[in-house]
Amino acid sequence: MTNQELMQRDLAHIWHPCTQMKDHETIPIIPIKRAKGVYLYDYDGNRYIDAISSWWVNLFGHSNPYINRKIREQLEQVEHLIFAGFTHEQIVVLTERLCSLTSMDKAFYADNGSSAVEVALKMAFHYHKNRGEVRPYFLSLTNSYHGETLGALAVGDVELYKETYREIMIETLQVPVPKDRSEEGALEAVQELERVLEERGEEISAMIVEPLVQCAGYMHMYHPRYLSEAKRLCEEYGVLFIVDEIAVGFGRTGTMFAYEQAGIKPDFICLSKGLTGGYLPLSVVLTTDEVYRAFYCDYLEFKAFLHSHSYTGNATACAAANATLDIFERENVLEENRKKSRYIWERLEPFRELPNVTDIRQRGMIAAIELGGYDISKRIGLQINQKALKMGVFIRPLGNVVYLMPPYIINFEEIDQVIGALFDSISTLKA
Ligand SMILES: *Cc1c(COP(=O)(O)O)cnc(C)c1O
Repeated sequence: MTNQELMQRDLAHIWHPCTQMKDHETIPIIPIKRAKGVYLYDYDGNRYIDAISSWWVNLFGHSNPYINRKIREQLEQVEHLIFAGFTHEQIVVLTERLCSLTSMDKAFYADNGSSAVEVALKMAFHYHKNRGEVRPYFLSLTNSYHGETLGALAVGDVELYKETYREIMIETLQVPVPKDRSEEGALEAVQELERVLEERGEEISAMIVEPLVQCAGYMHMYHPRYLSEAKRLCEEYGVLFIVDEIAVGFGRTGTMFAYEQAGIKPDFICLSKGLTGGYLPLSVVLTTDEVYRAFYCDYLEFKAFLHSHSYTGNATACAAANATLDIFERENVLEENRKKSRYIWERLEPFRELPNVTDIRQRGMIAAIELGGYDISKRIGLQINQKALKMGVFIRPLGNVVYLMPPYIINFEEIDQVIGALFDSISTLKA
């Protein structure tokens, strides 16, 4: 098929995610013929560096030979089976590895990030109920993002995605996220948390946070001290602590999991995105024996967690996840990433001279440049995206925040190309 033909046939019937489809009257949708490493190749012979890891999922490149092989091998064994009453080798091994990496005890699987958040929320509420306490509220941070299903949206706070559905949201409580990256900022936000817990702690099942970086919330970053203080306060009020590591897990912030930087032990960890190296939909909620035991009893006490998804524990996806963890075990991924993040930080220095740049921030392999002085009607994110594409780089800014979250296999030359394209597109932006 040709480029043109694919574009037309796509737009005839397909409704794309997070897209005003009318934009495609003027902006072409790009059919991709193949992907390899950090590159996406189109039908016209152009290639684009996937500088945001295809929405933050890809870790070790597209069409990674090792992950490909492991998936092919798995297909010869079992592709998928019902996960009630049966189990399989890939998921047993994967669960042991995840529990060992996090010091958690139990794993409940789903097939996407939002579903993992729903599982953690329901499980937290149900935990208290099984112990004779009804705690109808969840607590989350302002500017947070936890997915798009109704429950996940209700604990989220990115207005653009949530506001439309306000009337049908379950009611949740929000406390302010630390306003900046300083420790003082963190401690200031803790005061408000303490106030809310004092007042309503007994009505709250769980607090859910994105540790260190609120990715969809315009890459807002905060100090780890907030997490350690929040966890301590939640414990005091019997409020379970959920870390949503769906975006920041698997090394993005410099440690395997972001919450490690706060030295805490959460009650729930939600993982997805990088879990399969960006190959297949899979998610998991890791929790403790303490939570598990509240559900464990004779059937007729009706305390079981009766939640399921058709593709729970998909064997092919688990094989991709095990292959991804193999790569972490064999290669010095986090150490190599440290060199790359340092390099990115240095290369971002010249951006400070640009009059439209108001902030530059980075944590591990996530770097963000915030631009100021533009009206929303200018759609500068889209302008930058279009300019960068012409220079062979794919980025997708969030409002006025341009960010990089590249696959870990990106090399220094490719980093240069990405940053060059960013510099060109930001410095030539029209007000
Ligand atoms: C992407 C994301 C989700 C939702 O995951 P999906 O697989 O897109 O449903 C939840 N939480 C965070 C922090 C995310 O970045």
